[in-house]
Amino acid sequence: MFDKILIANRGEIALRILRAAKELGIATVAVHSTADADAMHVRLADESVCIGPPAARDSYLNIPSIIAACEITGADAVHPGYGFLSENARFAEVLAHHEIGFIGPKAEHIRVMGDKIEAKRTAISLGIPCVPGSDGGVEPGDEAKRVAAEIGYPVLVKAASGGGGRGMKVARTEADLDQAIGMARSEAKAAFGDDAVYLEKYLEKPRHIEVQILGDGRGDAIHLAERDCSLQRRHQKVWEEGGSPALNEAMRAEIGGICADAMKKLGYLGAGTIEFLYEDGRFYFIEMNTRIQVEHPVTEMITGIDLVNEQIRVAAGAPLSVSQSDIKVEGHAIECRINAEDPETFRPSPGQITYYHPPGGLGVRVDSAAFQGYRIPPNYDSLIGKLIVHGRTRNECLMRLRRALDEFVIDGVDTTLPLFRALVRNQDVQNGMYDIHWLETALAGGN
Ligand code: ADP
Repeated sequence: MFDKILIANRGEIALRILRAAKELGIATVAVHSTADADAMHVRLADESVCIGPPAARDSYLNIPSIIAACEITGADAVHPGYGFLSENARFAEVLAHHEIGFIGPKAEHIRVMGDKIEAKRTAISLGIPCVPGSDGGVEPGDEAKRVAAEIGYPVLVKAASGGGGRGMKVARTEADLDQAIGMARSEAKAAFGDDAVYLEKYLEKPRHIEVQILGDGRGDAIHLAERDCSLQRRHQKVWEEGGSPALNEAMRAEIGGICADAMKKLGYLGAGTIEFLYEDGRFYFIEMNTRIQVEHPVTEMITGIDLVNEQIRVAAGAPLSVSQSDIKVEGHAIECRINAEDPETFRPSPGQITYYHPPGGLGVRVDSAAFQGYRIPPNYDSLIGKLIVHGRTRNECLMRLRRALDEFVIDGVDTTLPLFRALVRNQDVQNGMYDIHWLETALAGGN
């Protein structure tokens, strides 16, 4: 097992990793930018190293600084969390070169899944059902028109290096296609430095359902059921729950089994998420995330398995602590992503938290690095905490979530708490009747 883990991240996920490491008896090193000198992850870690100025590219994305921090502190492994360097195959390789463990998948799998065109090819070869689409990249012109006609309009133009919903454009007819490809390419070039785009059938009313998997890198892999992340704004998840209100036990076992088998064939190492759109009873793979995800606590609450603990164990060469037959879904869990943002305009609201009172009680979990007096820096994303609630039934979970949201007080900055208080009282949400467009329609005054 590792002796000392360096956590190459900040905020709530840095705390989450720190907690898992402490429970395994492993020492922890926090790294931080100058903007985060006061942060909770720095306070709670055994050691800390400042790795640069506020801009992420000079600190949390600065590979030489992070390697130097490992060498100064003698850390023998790095956990990258989510975002930042978590899906950077080169980072995993550089760590290996320095004989430092990477708590994440093999570099080759990060690379394959990081290119969505390659990821789809791989998924198809592993027997995972995919959205019908182009075989590879497309350019404006007749060939793209031929492929789009074959797929059938509307089609979605997507960036091969895409992330965070950027570089996606819908073409409803052939007349829109060249323009949509052109716009997606320039957006992708600007955001990811790669203008490769591909076509996919645009599904009109899907749900977003994703399967959590864990692999030991040697051919053993299991699934830990699904999360439904259909409540999204600008392709960003807002509310996640598990199990999906749209699936039953048999459907869960079927798609979960397909994913676990695929990961066995791949020899996948660590935690990962296979994301699908789900429409009319069918699953369509869209991408795989080769990291721990923001919404992983939903799965932890319904299975009782500590996913970060498993990540650390398998990265150190140990087997998974559980087998598929040990995984039992119990009850229901919902996560709300609480952002420091105006709940109506979603404009970021950095600043000082003047009063902080998180909810508590049975089945209530708050993963947050916030505290009273904490100053939220303007340099990073606006997630300040996650409220995750568990109940024996979905209904119990909703009632518990409602009271937990009402207990939660965060003063001094705007937060999205009021949005969640409205959502939990909404009839469609209570009935589980929503698709990926529902939230945006609701925010625009529809539904
Ligand atoms: P990113 O990596 O940018 O998050 P994804 O491929 O995961 O991109 O897609 C993000 C979101 O975009 C999905 O959750 C869904 O809301 C929407 N989306 C992606 N592909 C399609 C599609 N073929 N049809 C309809 N919506 C889609």
